[in-house]
Amino acid sequence: MVNEQTENCPKCNARWRGEDIYEHFLARRDNGDVFYANKTDEEILETASSYGYTLESPQYFSHLIGIEIRGYYDGVAGWKCPACGQVWNRFTGEEVGEERRLLTPVISITNKNN
Ligand SMILES: [Zn+2]
Repeated sequence: MVNEQTENCPKCNARWRGEDIYEHFLARRDNGDVFYANKTDEEILETASSYGYTLESPQYFSHLIGIEIRGYYDGVAGWKCPACGQVWNRFTGEEVGEERRLLTPVISITNKNN
């Protein structure tokens, strides 16, 4: 199943894994980002932990594109490869090809005898 933790595109093999999140914030501090200027390594680790990062289980930013569709679902409905454009349904994992095909109708069954 494709998600933010998938390292490479299963279609075109483009690398999706981005920077180590903790190292990203350390670098921002060390490169003069005012917001992080006076933070200790422990405080930076705490910032990274809000992304689920721990030293035992490092997390990485992803280049994968999350697709939201207003009025359809409040959150990511699909994932898109920034290299080849392939789109996957976030919930079923199905490869749908293009964004508009994420809009599959929801079938509701109503018992008319009630
Ligand atoms: Zn791709």
